[in-house]
Amino acid sequence: MTTVQTLESKQTETLPKLRPITSEWMKELARKPELLKELTSKFGSPVNIHSLLNFEENRSAFKAVFEEYGLRNRIFYARKANKSRAFVKRAGEIGAGVDTASFRELEESLELGLPSERLVCTAAIKNEELIKLAVENEVIVILDNEDECQITQKVAEELGKKARVGVRISGFKHKGKKLYSRFGFDIDVAENFITEQFGKSNQYKDLVYCGLHFHLNGYSTAERGTAILQSVELAKKLKSNGFRTDFLDIGGGILINYLESKKEWQEFKNRLKDCISGESKPITFNNDGLGFYLLNEKVRGKLATYPYFNELNTTNFLREVLDFENEAGKSASQLLKEENIEIRMEPGRSLLNQAGVTLAKVAFRKQDSRGDWLIGLEMNMSQMQSSSADFLLDPMVIYNNPNPEAEPIEAYFTGAYCLERDILLKRKIALPQKPEIGDFVIFVNTAGYMMHFFETQAHLFNLSENLAISKNSGFELEDFVQDKLIR
Ligand SMILES: *Cc1c(COP(=O)(O)O)cnc(C)c1O
Repeated sequence: MTTVQTLESKQTETLPKLRPITSEWMKELARKPELLKELTSKFGSPVNIHSLLNFEENRSAFKAVFEEYGLRNRIFYARKANKSRAFVKRAGEIGAGVDTASFRELEESLELGLPSERLVCTAAIKNEELIKLAVENEVIVILDNEDECQITQKVAEELGKKARVGVRISGFKHKGKKLYSRFGFDIDVAENFITEQFGKSNQYKDLVYCGLHFHLNGYSTAERGTAILQSVELAKKLKSNGFRTDFLDIGGGILINYLESKKEWQEFKNRLKDCISGESKPITFNNDGLGFYLLNEKVRGKLATYPYFNELNTTNFLREVLDFENEAGKSASQLLKEENIEIRMEPGRSLLNQAGVTLAKVAFRKQDSRGDWLIGLEMNMSQMQSSSADFLLDPMVIYNNPNPEAEPIEAYFTGAYCLERDILLKRKIALPQKPEIGDFVIFVNTAGYMMHFFETQAHLFNLSENLAISKNSGFELEDFVQDKLIR
């Protein structure tokens, strides 16, 4: 076969699919275009819809793992992953905790009825106002640096209260190297720092040391496992100095799986590389390599997105962390149990797995000068934006007038910001039929970080409305509760 023939045969290939795992409640929504019309008429487009039952299930599944291992435990929902009040309220109702990352997150969680022992403040920046709110309400503050210790001591003294604190640590050794983090105290100095500065007669006499905390970047179970082992070692040393570690908080970052098929995931990556090398015609807007690039006629780099397909995910990911063994063959969970240390965890994304979708209305269809179809949606790029290179899930398209005989088309979805780059998904998507104005697109599994984290109000667009449902089937318009009405 000549090169030209290969090229031609590839060019007639269909677009790679990335079918998302889609819960029943999402499929039911997609079967009800009339309801979607009512929802968008009443609440605008886009509108975010959240299932509180899926959130509860995710929490129960993690909880069951800890119970199975016989560990004292507490799960804090990292609410920075989604702005809705509904999840916070529900966390309170089911006995879960909430991890707060700002003054307003903490204030609102208190207002929504979370008791102090089920709140924690891990904010990356903690000013005096935030620390005061936490100490007044007896919420544990996770200290990141000495300046925070000083402010917390000052606040506690002024309030005439003791401040319960955890100490964030980092710099764990893994495979002979230190894991860098901009957060926390270096584990090598933490022992001295805590024993010398905290407690009765010392500088931070009003700070009550309660536990240790870490949150690691990336998704390595071995790194998390070894971080637990090293934290327990530190806790033992602290114990011999009279400082009891009641809890170890292992942060978040539990992998989830977004996609149905490993094969599709592999094929997509291979195809993208072929596009970058020019062997295949583009499948992304402007032939964006999403991290792959061409150098000296070779494809380099790696996919710079979230790893959307993961065989090891959620509870099994957690199990692998807890099973991680030290050189003597003792597992992280055994050591925690021996030391009677409560395990705490702050999952964000993984508690929101399958708990949200973004619904938007089709505004126009057009062909650009390259002949590509563009489907304009009533939403903008900030309303479904990944912190990684792109969100790689096929959306659902809901047709008001489905036609089995229709011609399939390939299209990009575009948004309302006046930027050439407001392309909602960088991938070109194959559709069975050209959407019409007023048809709907549902982006699946967007609750964790996708819908709110980067949302802006450029052009004076309103922020999207958030709705919550407490049942997963048979819903009607009245079942969708507006987030701002949740008290
Ligand atoms: C972001 C963050 C979390 C939550 O991380 P996920 O990846 O959403 O699970 C938990 N704890 C801290 C300190 C964080 O910064």
